[in-house]
Amino acid sequence: MTGHRQALVGDRGLGKDSDWSIVLHGGAGVAEHKDMPPEREAAFRAGMAAGLDAGVAVLAAGGPALDAIQAAVEVLEDDPLFNAGRGAAFTADGANELDAAIMDGSTLAAGAVGGVTRTRHPIALARAVMERSPHVMLVGQGADGFAASMGLEQVEPSFFFTGSRWRALEAELEALGLPVPPGAGRAGAAQPEPDDHRFGTVGAVARDSNGRLAAATSTGGMTAKRWGRVGDSPIIGAGTYAADDACACSGTGSGEYFIRLTLAREVAVLVKYKGLSLQAAVDEAIQGQLTALGGDGGVIAVGAGGEMAASSGERLVAIFKDEA
Ligand code: ASP
Repeated sequence: MTGHRQALVGDRGLGKDSDWSIVLHGGAGVAEHKDMPPEREAAFRAGMAAGLDAGVAVLAAGGPALDAIQAAVEVLEDDPLFNAGRGAAFTADGANELDAAIMDGSTLAAGAVGGVTRTRHPIALARAVMERSPHVMLVGQGADGFAASMGLEQVEPSFFFTGSRWRALEAELEALGLPVPPGAGRAGAAQPEPDDHRFGTVGAVARDSNGRLAAATSTGGMTAKRWGRVGDSPIIGAGTYAADDACACSGTGSGEYFIRLTLAREVAVLVKYKGLSLQAAVDEAIQGQLTALGGDGGVIAVGAGGEMAASSGERLVAIFKDEA
């Protein structure tokens, strides 16, 4: 696995009264090492580490996996380097439409949102959908309205704007032969940066000391997406899935393929019914099935015994080996 990378960090606490695990991803499709300025790479790694710290703090204190993954993802949503929350990719119309999902492996409860534009932390909204509504998935204005009614922080849509994402949009629209929407001037005069995160979606999976698993994913989706496109991240079973008797799994990559393969649940099925080890299951799902279908991307997973695994399609990603 050379050339491209998947940002990935994980930690495990094994003690007399504690056995917890957590893994985070910061997307796949990161540019080749030589293309990323060192200070940008350092910031990217620091962002991942900050997210990991937030999750570990919860787990090490005996807290639930759900709280840990939400805390980790919120840190990454606030970091403009990642394609989630602030720093999200732009639609072809020049908007940020955010998707997120969370799942509790011990109850199979789940919450998801698609196309939200005003809620600062889409993962917190997904959690509210799970715990405070009778539904699993809300979209668009209605979802933001529910967030506001639940007291979740609302922001102006411009909060999510970053110049580097805007430049990535301009480049993508040019490649597609589509017009650049008004707002281009907002990118300012800064030097273009390499589009070093074609994806940049974030996710977290964890097992807490009580053996409960949970998974979360948050994204701005694909640059220049159109027509209200929603990817796999908020589709339960596609980009996000957790079941205590199998695993917790979060994906990143070409969402349409993850949806068609119900990829995150496929990993759980391979573990539960085929008896594969977690690593064998993620490899089969990504390097076997996803690659065979023509998709790109990667997944992270934590198993019922606290084991951690990750897999990434060879064509696009490899792992920060020193952090894996
Ligand atoms: N899977 C996401 C989507 O298709 C994109 C990503 O992983 O960055 O929306």
